[in-house]
Amino acid sequence: MPAGGGESWRADWRADAACVGENLEVFFPLGDQATHHALSNQAKEICARCPVMATCRAWALRTSPEFGIFGGLTAHERRLVREGRWSGQGPRRASRTDAA
Ligand code: SF4
Repeated sequence: MPAGGGESWRADWRADAACVGENLEVFFPLGDQATHHALSNQAKEICARCPVMATCRAWALRTSPEFGIFGGLTAHERRLVREGRWSGQGPRRASRTDAA
């Protein structure tokens, strides 16, 4: 699971996180827009199979980490949720053009 949280992040649910042992760079994507998009989708794929995604998402919405993908949402998407403007789409699957 990505680092960067406060005390709540050390709660027991993290032991079941699908991101444990994964490349955490995908959760904090850098690079040009295409790279950022591709890495974000990789993170969302991991979140989509995470048994504690709902808990992680609730934590991220409550604690508002400024960066990173948590609970299958980017920081921008979390802002949309908090503002009531999120369309309700779940973690996005990579398209063929994302694979490059
Ligand atoms: S939802 Fe994503 S970021 Fe959160 S614990 Fe699961 S895999 Fe990690």
